[in-house]
Amino acid sequence: MKNIFICLLMIITGLLLSGCGNEQKQVVDIYDKIKARDKLIVGVKYDTKPFGFIDKNQEVTGFDVDLARMIAKYILNDPNKVEFVQVTPQNRILALNSGQIDMIIATMTVTEQRKQVVEFSRPYYVAGQAIMVNKDSLIKNINDLRNKKIIIVLGTTADRNIKNIAPESMIQGYRTYNDAFAALKNNRGDALITDDSILLGLISDDSNFKILSKRYTKEPYAIALKKGPESHKLLFYIDNALNSFEQSGELNNLKRKWIKN
Ligand code: GLU
Repeated sequence: MKNIFICLLMIITGLLLSGCGNEQKQVVDIYDKIKARDKLIVGVKYDTKPFGFIDKNQEVTGFDVDLARMIAKYILNDPNKVEFVQVTPQNRILALNSGQIDMIIATMTVTEQRKQVVEFSRPYYVAGQAIMVNKDSLIKNINDLRNKKIIIVLGTTADRNIKNIAPESMIQGYRTYNDAFAALKNNRGDALITDDSILLGLISDDSNFKILSKRYTKEPYAIALKKGPESHKLLFYIDNALNSFEQSGELNNLKRKWIKN
């Protein structure tokens, strides 16, 4: 009797376990998904010259856009097998983790906080936060920003760091770099803080502003992938691709092409 009971218990346990197994979510490997689709879907900026912006032919272009094409060539043997989706600092992680895009290549700094929610490749560029002011401004450094209005873009590392860098200033957040720069031009703020690489892009269209010499942070840019094991194969290929672009000099060529300082 006892044996029958043990047998029954084993059968029921087995059934329950196999049932649970069926309910487990099937993880779709993102590298395999890209290969099957034969196209990359990449989130890039449309307002962040020289990394991702719309040129005079209404085409999306820039350093990050070129890098996306190089990754498409590396993985799919064709630099044109890529679809671009506009992202902003506020929506890019959601677009990634909801599956709308395969990766973010959008001036995105690696931070410990972001590492909790995305996978990062090795860095491909290092920027640093700087202050931009009107060229006649008396502001010379961060100490002069006390009680001044500082403009930042929401969701960026500047948005996060500003309270540490300039605790006694008044902060104004905007959704895009175009809005932030327009606010500075219209004297709605005294200084704009973000990555030097992005400030250089803004200033290239307008010589009425200057970038102060000090850099307050290090901003390593990396490609972000969806958090989890479904990205591990893709991450391996992307890191290999970036290493090979570094060794071949292609990464340096990109810097020379887009970053003029
Ligand atoms: N690199 C900074 C960041 O990741 C600013 C630029 C951006 O948000 O794309 O927050």
